[in-house]
Amino acid sequence: MIGLVFGPPGSGKGTQASRVAVRLGIPHIAAGDMLRSEVDHDTALGREAKPIMDAGGLVPDDLVVRMINERLNQTDATKGVLLDGFPRTVPQAIMLDVMLKTRNATVDEVIALEVPDDELKTRILKRATTEGRSDDTAEGLAQRLIVYRQDTAPVLEHYREAGTRIDSINGVGDIDAITEGIMEALKRGGVVVGTA
Ligand code: ADP
Repeated sequence: MIGLVFGPPGSGKGTQASRVAVRLGIPHIAAGDMLRSEVDHDTALGREAKPIMDAGGLVPDDLVVRMINERLNQTDATKGVLLDGFPRTVPQAIMLDVMLKTRNATVDEVIALEVPDDELKTRILKRATTEGRSDDTAEGLAQRLIVYRQDTAPVLEHYREAGTRIDSINGVGDIDAITEGIMEALKRGGVVVGTA
């Protein structure tokens, strides 16, 4: 199963993707976490990515695609993956389709988390006080929302046109209840069976 968790910054993609991946027994691959790890390790990619991430922009497609492609080559990814924060642009989605095709796979499911802007703002500013992420500022969020609407929202259209199953999930409310809502949607779609 190849799943994508999709949604604006602060929509809870990371939280929900990590929980759902555990339930499905597949790795959670979070592009933002991988990039932050590159920054922490002061790699060439991290040095290039940091100023872009801090300003709320997008790291160039070719760099992110190469990073994800290498991750998909690891053995644990053969049984399926849950991608979070990738693809974030239509070119990335097209390149993912190619990467999966060479592996005889395709995106099976898109989980689209829906959260209003006011709530996103509250969450990100709260996260700023607890996690200290250098991009979690009012200006950083404003820029990330602009980039989300301009570059990332069209990714959903890409999958809609491809006929991929898309489940829209209300991302506001109790964290456990949202996870259950996602699992129910996956069961209804036949993406998972049984009691996972
Ligand atoms: P958020 O909760 O804001 O979506 P992420 O951890 O997913 O946080 O991403 C943080 C930042 O990492 C993004 O604002 C962007 O600069 C960079 N980034 C993450 N994924 C990608 C991607 N697929 N392509 C380009 N840049 C990315």
